[in-house]
Amino acid sequence: MRDDQVLVSGLIAACREIIAAHADHLSELDRAIGDGDHGTNMRRGCEAVYADRDRFSQMPLAQAIEEIGLTLVLTIGGASGPLYGTLLMEIGRRLAAGGEADFSAALTGAVEAVARRGRAQRGEKTLLDVLYPVQDEVIRRHALSAIAERAETSATLTVGMKALRGRASFLGERSIGHMDPGARSCALLTSAICHYLKEHRAA
Ligand code: ADP
Ligand code: MG
Repeated sequence: MRDDQVLVSGLIAACREIIAAHADHLSELDRAIGDGDHGTNMRRGCEAVYADRDRFSQMPLAQAIEEIGLTLVLTIGGASGPLYGTLLMEIGRRLAAGGEADFSAALTGAVEAVARRGRAQRGEKTLLDVLYPVQDEVIRRHALSAIAERAETSATLTVGMKALRGRASFLGERSIGHMDPGARSCALLTSAICHYLKEHRAA
């Protein structure tokens, strides 16, 4: 297998593993401020990608990322499926277009696309409250361990926020005091990806 085939396959396995290990907790977080399905949704998406990992790892990296995004849209469902799907499809497209060979530029454009899709911005207690800080760290070319740490602390910071988007917004003030499930899944995935890259690739 080529290096990037091993990379794609390994990253898919690492993401699937972390979501499987935390699916119950993600659903528990979603039970507090949503409808309790976020762990099930994320697990379904990651299992579908994992089942097709050989096909993805045959593709050029940018195409694999885009196709994984499409699979996530079709399998995660809920509000988070189209958002995670948009993120990956946009990263893949931007990398493939070549004009943005730089990963941080592709990520920045993709995070903007997620924000447009969710009509959301920073501070509204969603997965964007992890994506934006991660994007900032990537732009500054911080070390992988720093990116992972920032993702974790950013998810924790959603505890104090009032939800303004998605189901949790129906709770208004009562959403304060709970961590946003999408922010948590986003931190878990970021952390799994950073740790995998740190172990298998120079930063
Ligand atoms: P659903 O809310 O449809 O049950 P999930 O439970 O899978 O979907 O996902 C909920 C997560 O999706 C939230 O915790 C939040 O992070 C994210 N989310 C929901 N709506 C939006 C939005 N409009 N913009 C950004 N993120 C959102
Ligand atoms: Mg839900």
